[in-house]
Amino acid sequence: MDPGHNGGNAGAPSIINRLIWNGRESETCDTTGTQTDSGYTEAQFNWNVARYLTADLRAEGATVVLTRTSNTGVGPCVTQRAAIGNVAHANAGVSIHADGGPANGRGFAILEPVDDATNAAVVGPSAILGADLRSAIATGTGEPVSSYDGVNGIQPRNDLAGINLSTIPKVFVECANMRNAADASLVTSPAWQAKAARAIATGLTHFLNGRQGLFPLLRRARTEVGLGDLPGRRSAVAAGQHRRQELRRHCGLERIHLRWRDDRPGQYAERFQNGVRT
Ligand SMILES: [Zn+2]
Repeated sequence: MDPGHNGGNAGAPSIINRLIWNGRESETCDTTGTQTDSGYTEAQFNWNVARYLTADLRAEGATVVLTRTSNTGVGPCVTQRAAIGNVAHANAGVSIHADGGPANGRGFAILEPVDDATNAAVVGPSAILGADLRSAIATGTGEPVSSYDGVNGIQPRNDLAGINLSTIPKVFVECANMRNAADASLVTSPAWQAKAARAIATGLTHFLNGRQGLFPLLRRARTEVGLGDLPGRRSAVAAGQHRRQELRRHCGLERIHLRWRDDRPGQYAERFQNGVRT
């Protein structure tokens, strides 16, 4: 879980304005985020939602890894925010934000990755995660989809390190528009923050445990059919073919692609066709 920005960012321009590589282009290490017209900061909103969400998910038995542990620090850089989820091998990642859009627009939007080669395997699963979150947020909060960002609440983005560099299914949630009067009254309300967190937890739970729970399923299947720890690339090709069949059958998937991982000798990474179980 990645609560966007940080409360100390505004006071540390030399750190957060440093340029990093986001997978396609340069962007700054982090930004201050937006705020309501009355000065309630996005960093505070994101942090509050993250605390509620952490409590909700842990109560359901999830292991939660956060990219920051307070709202008084600086950063981390957006590259590090992606890396934390990757290193944790999280089943899903969500970056929590609120937007600073036009005053006459309101609503929430899900920002999803597009294929930039390094994140290709998670574009499909991220779209499924995004759809689950969109549905849960609409139902759980009553907030409309954004009137100005994306189509029906979904906006693909190729300029965000947090999803460009992700190797886990991950999306950003722009919970509301802080520059809109109606949304501003919601984002500053602890009750609504808790409600938004509850809705995000519901969407994540659906993704992880419900019909879309392919990553836990694949992880389990990998153990059960013995995928991984193969002796070497050449001899692994034949074994990989056989294990792909087993894994496909085990998971009830129509198609599954195994790709040799150069970064982890002896292991394959899975990719599944359209993320759809047959
Ligand atoms: Zn933000």
